Amino acid sequence: MQFLFALRSRGVTDARVLTAMERIDRAHFVKGLFADKVYTDVPLPIASGQTISQPSVVGLMTQALDVSPRDKVLEVGTGSGYQAAILSVLARRVYTIDRFKRLVADARAIFEEEGLHNITAITGDGSFGYPEQAPFDRILVTAAAEDPPSPLLAQLRVGGIMVLPVGQSDAVQTLIRATRTETGYEYEELRQVRFVPLIEGLGD
Ligand code: SAH
Repeated sequence: MQFLFALRSRGVTDARVLTAMERIDRAHFVKGLFADKVYTDVPLPIASGQTISQPSVVGLMTQALDVSPRDKVLEVGTGSGYQAAILSVLARRVYTIDRFKRLVADARAIFEEEGLHNITAITGDGSFGYPEQAPFDRILVTAAAEDPPSPLLAQLRVGGIMVLPVGQSDAVQTLIRATRTETGYEYEELRQVRFVPLIEGLGD
């Protein structure tokens, strides 16, 4: 399939990630005007002025997160729900949170339709994480903060991994991987990315 070939050529090589991305059809998450671009490796506009990420970036972030079948994962920034759906194939349980009620409602409906029963979508400010279900084995943030939000670091299990873009919202950001150790956190810079900003408070 052309789509998978494009992902591979951009560095998404993990077999489990590619299988998950083959299984989850991006067409469910992009409606209307941009539907004809759904298998193209570009970010696309969705409701509430947000974007569904570029498929290769979704793949690279998922790969960097190194999810195991027993993991409980938190995603901050549900958006269309595409990334959460891919995570749900790889993990035991996925919690995904967005500040826009409408995006959460739309994503929930797709998860239901597609029989993705291990995802819980929540409306809320994800910069505070989701304390009700902490700690998490993996945390993926799909909106950019200036620094890793400390509540998210605190909600990571020892040995857990968080992947997130950091940097100024209107500039190129750096995708980083934070690993919680017994004594602190180790950080690794992965690549340059561009995400919408992580904004505090709920959306309209
Ligand atoms: N992962 C998404 C794309 C995310 S776009 C997908 O697969 O389609 C980034 C999302 O982060 C937007 O929907 C935006 O509303 C959300 N967001 C920004 N700040 C947030 C916050 N503080 N808490 C929760 N969600 C936030």
